[in-house]
Amino acid sequence: HSTEPWRDFDRSQVYSADLDSALHYLLRVELATHNTLEGEELQIFKDFVTLVAKLYPGGGSVVKLMETLSDWLLSLPLQRIPYQAVLDLVDNKMRISGVFLGAELRWVGCQGSRAGLRGYPCSLWTLFHVLTVQHDAMPTALDNTALEGDAAAVLHVMRRYIRTFFGCEQCGRHFEAAAAASLETVQSREQQIIWLWNQHNTVNLRLAGSLSDDPLFPKAPWPSPSLCASCHEEKNGVHVWNQENVLLFLRRHFGASNLSPKYSL
Ligand code: FAD
Repeated sequence: HSTEPWRDFDRSQVYSADLDSALHYLLRVELATHNTLEGEELQIFKDFVTLVAKLYPGGGSVVKLMETLSDWLLSLPLQRIPYQAVLDLVDNKMRISGVFLGAELRWVGCQGSRAGLRGYPCSLWTLFHVLTVQHDAMPTALDNTALEGDAAAVLHVMRRYIRTFFGCEQCGRHFEAAAAASLETVQSREQQIIWLWNQHNTVNLRLAGSLSDDPLFPKAPWPSPSLCASCHEEKNGVHVWNQENVLLFLRRHFGASNLSPKYSL
């Protein structure tokens, strides 16, 4: 990143360039470490693609790509798919139909102050937060898919994706432990939004001051009082979250109307 110019951005916004870059990295880099997809892995990948195709906000070229990928995966009678076939579809079919997923990674809200910091993991968190909020905003979006009727569909797909594909294995183990401990308590789409926010703050707390901490973006409880004053309260001298206001804030922050197209292709 160090050779790229710094992109000014607003911390109170979410950037579609980050979400597009997350999918680009996921499809071309993360998935590339698997030569073939079959069995459980293929099912997880299909579910992830369905989730994004149905819930990704905006109706832009990335949604079209994910829809095409989803239709293709669902129509295939194959039990195993070579990764190269996925890549060919992403590269070629998309170019022919004019659907184009930017060939570059452009981190905006997920820029790091030097190479190796932030970027993909930041954008993956952001993507899943956006998906939890969209799932709540569009309750029928997953109807007629394998994920219909599951109030925690986003978290279930995320859990299996992270466990199986996420390049950081230690992260996968931590996330799996957290999911095993409390994911089944999530019974509604609102709880799904809050569970992911809370889990992300648990990770922030654990990582504060560690090597992966970008000095320009120190890990801290989020949202800060400057992003959301009403999210914070004090009871008997102790800091507590106002969860109702946190939920309102998350819906707005990760909602479709707060998605900035700045720096997107
Ligand atoms: P990130 O934590 O990536 O956050 C990205 C953006 O999300 C922030 O800039 C902020 O705008 C917003 N945000 C911050 N907190 C919240 C919140 N609570 N709710 C909603 N939005 C928020 N790294 C490890 O070293 N060990 C691990 O065990 C580990 N586990 C991970 C598990 C998962 C599922 C993922 C996706 C990543 C994990 N990582 C782990 C990576 C780590 O969490 C960070 O993503 C990485 O260090 C980059 O940090 P960042 O400063 O960009 O902020």
